[in-house]
Amino acid sequence: MEPRNPARLVVDPGGDADTLLAFIDRHALEVEAILITHGHLDHAGGVAALRRGLAERAAPAPDVIGPDERDAFLLASIADQARHFGLEGLENATVDRFVQEGEVLDYAGCRLHVLHVPGHTPGHVVFVDKAARFAFVGDVLFRGTVGRTDFAYGDGPLLVSSIKDKLLPLTKESGGAAIRDDITVVPGHGGLTTLDTEAAGNPFLQG
Ligand SMILES: [Zn+2]
Repeated sequence: MEPRNPARLVVDPGGDADTLLAFIDRHALEVEAILITHGHLDHAGGVAALRRGLAERAAPAPDVIGPDERDAFLLASIADQARHFGLEGLENATVDRFVQEGEVLDYAGCRLHVLHVPGHTPGHVVFVDKAARFAFVGDVLFRGTVGRTDFAYGDGPLLVSSIKDKLLPLTKESGGAAIRDDITVVPGHGGLTTLDTEAAGNPFLQG
């Protein structure tokens, strides 16, 4: 019997659904879930087209999960935002369900803990795999900086306190109490970093 390709996750498909589908086809991948960290168009504008494309290929269609319901207004205004920026092909996103702080999701062999980390948007969530030691952080935290908060609904102090209270302590929560296991951060833009690297050197998180 041919080994089955392990199921996969897609996180924050902001567009380019055709490119994603071509990659999925080329590697014969099975997508079990689409996860959304927050409602901005560059993170969720491709959800509808990707889900349609995957549903045409295989049943059942993947689950579309998250963010926190406080971002529902953003998911429902993606098409308007895209028109405003002159972008084509981005659609409003609907989810099968929103998530909440403290939930645990089991998809594609990953056990993902949901943290609500607001400030960039009101309903932004972060998905943390504590066993594999990585976190999908969307636009919360980047290498050397944090997400922008200059939107009407943005809140810079809340973003920084949420990162300090919820993300940075995760590296102290390893199985053996004395061992600090760093966590790789997968941001929505730019390169990878780690929580300990940002705790030590990110200028927004000092003091
Ligand atoms: Zn964003």
